[in-house]
Amino acid sequence: MDKNYCAYICAGCGIGDALDLEALSEVVTGEMSMDCKVHDCLCGAEGRAFIEADVKEGVNTVVVGACSPRVMANEFDFGKDKITVRANLREQVIWTEVKPAEGEEPHAEAAEFLAEAAADYMRMACTRAQKTELAEPYQLEVTNKIILVMGGGLAGLTAAKESAAAGYDVILVEKEDNLGGKALGWRKSFPTKAPWTDLEENPIQALVAEVVNNSRITVKTATEVARITGSPGDFGISFKAAGTKTEWDAPAKVTVDEQDLINKGEKEDPNEGLQKYTEINSEATKVGSVVLATGWKPADVSEYEHLGHGKLTNVVTNAEFEKISKLGKVPATVAFVQSPGGKDNDNDFPYCNSVTSMVALKQAQYVCEDNVDGRAFILYQHMRTPGSMELFYKNTQNNDGIFLTKGCVTQVEENGGGLRVAVEDTLLGEDITIDVDMVVLAAGMEPVTLHENSINLAYRQGPAFNDLDLFDGYADSHFICFPYETRRTGVYACGGVRKAETMEEAVDDATGAALKAIQCIESADRGVSVHPRSGDATYPEFFMQRCTQCKRCTEECPFGALDDDDNGTPLPNPTRCRRCGTCMGACPERIIGFKDYNIDLIGSMVKAVEVPEDDDDRLRIVVFVCENDAYPAIDMAGMKRLGLSHMVRFIPVRCLGSVNMAWIRDALSAGMDGAMLLGCTYGDDYQCHFVKGSEIANKRMENIGDTLSTLGLEPERCVANQIAITDYDKIPKIINDFVDEIVEMGPNPFKGF
Ligand code: SF4
Ligand code: SF4
Repeated sequence: MDKNYCAYICAGCGIGDALDLEALSEVVTGEMSMDCKVHDCLCGAEGRAFIEADVKEGVNTVVVGACSPRVMANEFDFGKDKITVRANLREQVIWTEVKPAEGEEPHAEAAEFLAEAAADYMRMACTRAQKTELAEPYQLEVTNKIILVMGGGLAGLTAAKESAAAGYDVILVEKEDNLGGKALGWRKSFPTKAPWTDLEENPIQALVAEVVNNSRITVKTATEVARITGSPGDFGISFKAAGTKTEWDAPAKVTVDEQDLINKGEKEDPNEGLQKYTEINSEATKVGSVVLATGWKPADVSEYEHLGHGKLTNVVTNAEFEKISKLGKVPATVAFVQSPGGKDNDNDFPYCNSVTSMVALKQAQYVCEDNVDGRAFILYQHMRTPGSMELFYKNTQNNDGIFLTKGCVTQVEENGGGLRVAVEDTLLGEDITIDVDMVVLAAGMEPVTLHENSINLAYRQGPAFNDLDLFDGYADSHFICFPYETRRTGVYACGGVRKAETMEEAVDDATGAALKAIQCIESADRGVSVHPRSGDATYPEFFMQRCTQCKRCTEECPFGALDDDDNGTPLPNPTRCRRCGTCMGACPERIIGFKDYNIDLIGSMVKAVEVPEDDDDRLRIVVFVCENDAYPAIDMAGMKRLGLSHMVRFIPVRCLGSVNMAWIRDALSAGMDGAMLLGCTYGDDYQCHFVKGSEIANKRMENIGDTLSTLGLEPERCVANQIAITDYDKIPKIINDFVDEIVEMGPNPFKGF
């Protein structure tokens, strides 16, 4: 594209009062060689028309110096064939200055500091505009619009039904002989409507009939997915008979060793040792996206010997009790033990949750329904009944046959023909023993994704999701912000595999996952990313001639988007990619980049910042800021006028994982005095939108400390910090404390060299 530039500076929102806009325009016209115009209110109808008039005359690359790029996105969108770059002069320049108190004079140099910051942000924006190229969406030759649903339980059935209702063909795969899953064994389900007190008939049979009779849905029972190749919009699915490693439902063609297909070398089965997998290479069925509804299993409670599980016949789990209740009459006296007691007696059983509480309330009612003198005892540490389920709880409390108390169950033992349950620290203020016919342990709902139910992806990073152990077996890539999305693009989880939920919640969940699966197909068709950077038409491009096959990019991609060949050369799969740039941050050869985000572009922005020499009041610190949480948090700190040091310059990045250490080296060799990475929390309570980017960046920063030492620079000049979007009030301390440390260290000794 032949670029025709023009920069526009807005005088609104106090920008014109705080800055000398004539002088700022001269920086743009003089140093950056771009036309520059000032307008009183660029985001208003007149302001937009002001820019559009120039666009009509041929301007195709627009720089806007105004408010944060996080606001007024539509107002400053001039079409896909135009480049627009924003300089954040409002939130991150003029609003960083604390307002002087009533009667107080502003800081003597405040205006100068603001002018310097504004000039740097305009220089950076103009540089970015010069280095940005128009995106060219990656187009698949053919986008397959069929959705594969794995799992024929309530969630899978619902996902299939909803996808079909939206006009998409579905293949529904269930490993059992019948559809319906665990719900087939439920006697009743929770209330779903006012007055929220009465158990309801199980809806599963009606749903099964609906799916079986839907002409858009192809049902494959007693079948498992043997392998998934390809990528969103173009997945190739091979099937096999459930429980076998050899037999598929398609005609045999070639017999091959799976190790050769997926990974070179030996493959160890966790249960059966070294295995020779022989598969029949059928023609793969093409689908566009996958809904993972493989369900849950009762969590293991066998370790709680003091409660008798596995030892005493009439100690059962809640799942076992439900089956008993469906087949016939339940015993007349039953204790429902909701937490294992013991030393740390406030803990619940593994994977316990609100559903486990409500199951106890439901099953206690079976005891009273089946026995005239039935007595149920619910012994809990935590009773969780969210929303309208509080009414269900209250109604259960009013049942004369049901007794509830908070207490610590210390022992279950045989007592004649029955069982004796010992309970301490009860709400009654005394220790009690209860004699019952049966004890039910509240086993939680553990997701079925781990090992035993790998989804068999033919990906370089392995057949299932990475780091499952780290995330308790859940496949989500970001539970809060991106529900349904797993760590493999195009695969969407719902139902018990995603979180413990009621049948009603599973229906909502499955509908959400079906929508995501549809979005994925349509985004792949348009050549844009699905999430979190929805609609992004760029994707990583590799300058392969300089690739050293170091494999860092293929190993660090959080989403398994990159396969590699026998030599270790990356084989990108653009529709699997989420455009985080972690591969770009990893590449030591700096050969990975996007049309609008690459090593040269950000490196040039860093170098565009003016670094004054011999002025301790004007040190320069670059902060690479994650655009997801940290950048809006800084904007909010600006809106609240919390005050930020005039010495810092913020540069937004897609994810800290995308920060290539070359930028830090560039910054310090350009004379900057310090560098900070500011991104999302990682570890147990991770918030990183790209799962591991923030953690990876932190490790890289540890290593760069060694490099700095060898250069004679203090490693403390470079730090990484984490922040959540809600912690905007902590921004000033994080930034200003770091600035104070740099001031104490003194200027970068290489300044001026
Ligand atoms: S941009 Fe992110 S998701 Fe895409 S290939 Fe690189 S590391 Fe993987
Ligand atoms: S990180 Fe860079 S050099 Fe290493 S394999 Fe990937 S593209 Fe090649």
